[in-house]
Amino acid sequence: MEFIPVLIKLAYLVSSIMFIIGIKMMGKTPTARQGNLYSAVAMLIAIVATLLQAKLFSLPEIFACILVGTLIGMYYAKKVAMTKIPEMVAIFNGVGGLASVLVSAADYWANMHEKATVTIDIITLVSAILGIIIGAITFTGSYIAFAKLNGTISGGSISFKGQHLLNLVVAVAMIGASVMLCIDPTQAIYLYVIVFLGLLLGVLTVIPIGGADMPVVISLLNSYSGIAACMTGFVLQNNVLIITGALVGASGIILTQIMCKAMNRSLMNVLLGGFGTAPAAAGAGGSASDIVVKEVGAEEAAMIFDSASSVIIVPGYGMAVSQAQHIVREMTEMLEKKNITVKYAIHPVAGRMPGHMNVLLAEANIPYDKLIEMDDINEEFAQTDVAFIIGANDVVNPAARSNPASPIYGMPILNADKARTVIVSKRGMNAGYAGIENELFGYPNCLMLFGDAKTTLTKVVNELKEM
Ligand code: NDP
Repeated sequence: MEFIPVLIKLAYLVSSIMFIIGIKMMGKTPTARQGNLYSAVAMLIAIVATLLQAKLFSLPEIFACILVGTLIGMYYAKKVAMTKIPEMVAIFNGVGGLASVLVSAADYWANMHEKATVTIDIITLVSAILGIIIGAITFTGSYIAFAKLNGTISGGSISFKGQHLLNLVVAVAMIGASVMLCIDPTQAIYLYVIVFLGLLLGVLTVIPIGGADMPVVISLLNSYSGIAACMTGFVLQNNVLIITGALVGASGIILTQIMCKAMNRSLMNVLLGGFGTAPAAAGAGGSASDIVVKEVGAEEAAMIFDSASSVIIVPGYGMAVSQAQHIVREMTEMLEKKNITVKYAIHPVAGRMPGHMNVLLAEANIPYDKLIEMDDINEEFAQTDVAFIIGANDVVNPAARSNPASPIYGMPILNADKARTVIVSKRGMNAGYAGIENELFGYPNCLMLFGDAKTTLTKVVNELKEM
């Protein structure tokens, strides 16, 4: 056996093992960063091994390309706002889907039209067709999701009569073309038809989904991009691609499931669209103006915190928008100096992406052990002096527990309303992601601290410093 092919096989094995260890480590907050690093190194090993195997480039050329790619990646990773991560993931998924289409099509082309023997084995052909179909749907679907989130096209549900029937017809035509290609692989026209119909299906299946549901769809498309890559792995007979594709495919679908469960929605309900379009009155009952709220200023809020012995902070999307995590840490430290216990209650879908709050709070160096998951902290609210809600809304909406007419009825929520006093930091009375009002804001134990979270918290911290 030659030395280089053995080395390449070994590199693939090491990289596959590192990917598996990396993804396992990403499952826990304290080891997530290290897991990411492991996976990045595994990717580096896989790329270098593949390029050496293909004998297309010399080692210096490979490293020059990697350097350029790394610099571009680092620039965008630093530039992108945390709230824009779903858009960035959509772009990644789209590119991954397109790569699967191109590689699968190129392999078909190489087998059928460039080699002297016009043959392709059926397993390779079926894998190539699946790679093309799933990759094409992922490509256009992801870019529609990106455009909706980015506001380039309307974020609402775009639907028309007979939409589901049209989707079915397109899907059946695509399967028909695939069967025809398997029967006569020399007819490349079927391949073009499959690509076209796959691209069309990606658009058709994502346009009816409301922009608000896009993060769930992006997670699903992430899974598709993994499955497409896995299929491409079968086409190229590349084990590391099969393994990584399967890992992405499986983790994407698990994440989609977790998100649906935390929002009390079925995947079908998300995919058929229409969520968040219900009028606000469908929420906790009555219009926003029916709710009479009690306002509190920074000074009074600081006095309430100062006299408390326990505080649970509930972060939400608004904290991310206002980038208040650093001032939240400062406030926590200040309260702890006054012997006040401070904990953070983390809802699984607080913010706009899974783990959103964990990432933000970790960035502000808030210790992981202070972040308590919903099921573990919910009982504690009733014995807590102050629940401090920072830019969260839906995840503390009691209508989810008590109002069967509410679109979020049945969604598990944080029981912040059970605390002795609830202080809510938000700019006004705007609804959250679900587009519904929150009766908690009118509860007798609830005080509204209006204003941008970072600005008001800074004022509270300044007041606390003087106490
Ligand atoms: P919400 O979207 O329910 O509410 C956010 C609140 O933040 C708004 O009501 C807004 O009110 C306030 N806000 C906005 N900007 C600021 C600011 N600068 N300072 C202070 N407050 C601000 O957030 P939650 O985190 O409670 O809930 C997340 C929602 O997103 C859930 O419905 C969840 O299902 C959904 N979702 C989550 C996903 C995830 O993976 N995490 C994925 C998909 C959906 P105002 O404008 O009045 O200030």
